[in-house]
Amino acid sequence: MAAYEGVVCSFCGSLCDDITVQVENNAIVSMTGGCAIGRNRFMSPPEANVPLVRGCETSLQEAVDAAARILSSARYPLVYGLSSTTTEAQAAAVRLAETLGASIDSTSSVCHGPGTVARQMLGIPTCTLGEVRNRADVVLFWGCNPVEAHPRHFSRYSVQARGWKTPDGRRNRTVIAVDVRKTLTAKTADIFLQVEPNSDFEVLTALRALTNGASLEGDTFGGVPRSQLAQAAEALRGAKYGVILFGMGLTMSSGCQHNVYQALMLARDLNDYTAFAVIPMRGHGNVAGAEAVMTWLTGYPFAVNFSRGYPRYSPGEFSAVDLLARGEADAALVVASDPAATFPAVAAARLRQIPMVVVDPQFSTTAQVAQVYIPSATAGIAAGGTAYRMDGVPLPLRRLVDSEYPSDQRILNLIEQGVRECFTS
Ligand code: SF4
Repeated sequence: MAAYEGVVCSFCGSLCDDITVQVENNAIVSMTGGCAIGRNRFMSPPEANVPLVRGCETSLQEAVDAAARILSSARYPLVYGLSSTTTEAQAAAVRLAETLGASIDSTSSVCHGPGTVARQMLGIPTCTLGEVRNRADVVLFWGCNPVEAHPRHFSRYSVQARGWKTPDGRRNRTVIAVDVRKTLTAKTADIFLQVEPNSDFEVLTALRALTNGASLEGDTFGGVPRSQLAQAAEALRGAKYGVILFGMGLTMSSGCQHNVYQALMLARDLNDYTAFAVIPMRGHGNVAGAEAVMTWLTGYPFAVNFSRGYPRYSPGEFSAVDLLARGEADAALVVASDPAATFPAVAAARLRQIPMVVVDPQFSTTAQVAQVYIPSATAGIAAGGTAYRMDGVPLPLRRLVDSEYPSDQRILNLIEQGVRECFTS
């Protein structure tokens, strides 16, 4: 039996790196550390899947050849997904998209993309989760619910975690939650601001005004009483080191990037009085890596198009949902993602109409409607590599067991080789 310590769980953006895994006969037999979601990821590996072409079992090579034929004969191929695989596979996907002259997009465009756009407009005062653990005495969660989505965030980084300046953990922190409903996270907060749906911008604007000492007319702002906003503003100004952690409740409600812009401005204002940082609460394990890799290689974080031979960036034009909803993409390669189950109906319907290749350890809903399905080794369990935590810190993913299938990176490299051969034949 082999024991691996300091293993990273790559299910969610927290990337907990304190997990111990025991392996016997090429199977994980026990695990310590991690939450119930992480335990399920390590202890319940995907079913043993097989490569399929039009529903028929085939060899890996034949599936790769079929994928290369589909993608090379498309007029407007789309490469999508990427947030639950390694940065090495993400880089291989970017190279493949460039070879194809395709559009490439990650799940970022349907989660934190607006936040990324806001960061491009304003910049972001940010820090690592280690600094949150060691220094933050005021923690503001806006539109996110880590108790359910990032179950160990509280204990490892943000609320109960004990650090250098926070030796008593929760007792050293004031927790503020802002959401449209009283989530489990909101129930633990010292101050809870319940906003009316799609009123985040209004509430943030009022909070900024109060934080800067302005007097406001009106009793409520976006459903929040002025007295509660004043209490929150006082707590924010009183922080020795504060952090704003925001989720899709902010990025995907009305206003989108303008909401995040206003949250970044709030942090900028607060830095006149004290130290304040902002961290997006990224959901998928390596969605932060997908943005980082695309930015290194193309200059842009998501929604990138190579049809002119050089990268162009246009969220809303080259993002996957928009390309599909307009009926422009005529073939798709989906990597480690399940858009057929999660996209808006019109985009999901288009995805089902066009030839599609899926590379994924899971036989997902999307894989079930694909013309070509290629199973891959699960990143962080049967394939090694790198992932980026929500705060942008890269961490190594280990290969703990062997798989009969290659990594996503290897499969994407094989498809690219096949595409080049198709183009020259
Ligand atoms: S909090 Fe996230 S990264 Fe940590 S063990 Fe749970 S699922 Fe894995």
